[in-house]
Parts: sequence; C-alpha cells; structure tokens
Amino acid sequence: MSSVELPAITHVWSSFGHRFYSGDGWSDHPDETSYERCMTCGAEYELRRRPDDPTGGDYTAANGDDPVECTGDTLMCHGEQPCQADNGRPCNSGVEPCPHEAHGCNCLLCTG
Ligand SMILES: [Zn+2]
Ligand SMILES: [Zn+2]
Ligand SMILES: [Zn+2]
Repeated sequence: MSSVELPAITHVWSSFGHRFYSGDGWSDHPDETSYERCMTCGAEYELRRRPDDPTGGDYTAANGDDPVECTGDTLMCHGEQPCQADNGRPCNSGVEPCPHEAHGCNCLLCTG
C-alpha cells in the first residue's frame, strides 16, 4: 500500500468575508485538518477537505457550523485572549466583557 498524496485545496465554497493567510494551508499537513486565521478579525476556523471534492474545502466552526461573517474589526478579542484594543492594553470601556469580547464570534478560539 503506497500512501496517497492528497492534492492541495484550491478552492473553498466561501471564506465568509474573512481574509485567511493562505489558500494552501494544507501543504504543511496534507492529511490533517488545517487551521486558518483571519488577517482582519483574528478569528480562527477549521478548513476541512470535502470528502467528494479533494481539492475543495470548507471553513467550519468548532461545532460544524458555518463561520460567522467577518466583522472587519481588527480589534476583536478571541477566546481567552485578553483585550488589546488600546495599543496592546485592555481598553477602558468599563463594561465586562468589553465590547471587543462580546461580538458573537463562533470561531475555534471563542468556542473551542
Ligand atoms: Zn475575519
Ligand atoms: Zn476591549
Ligand atoms: Zn473568535
């Protein structure tokens, strides 16, 4: 049995407005799930290869849902990540959680 080399993922159904770092995040780990982070909002989603279309992939949240649309907000906080909206320091919004953490994101960092 020779191992089958999987092709790179060349197309995705939708990136939901996110700008993921690479279109071929699979190349380093051809057999594994790829995790892609959005350059804009910092959300991280899983890129899964389609069973019926080896060069196609779909971005999914931890529970298998579609990702939420990119907010375009570069100051968003994800998961346990502390707020860094004020030049790397927590903002002074005075509310808990701060607006940067309360955004309804369903990415892997926030729900995983
Ligand atoms: Zn995004
Ligand atoms: Zn904040
Ligand atoms: Zn998130």
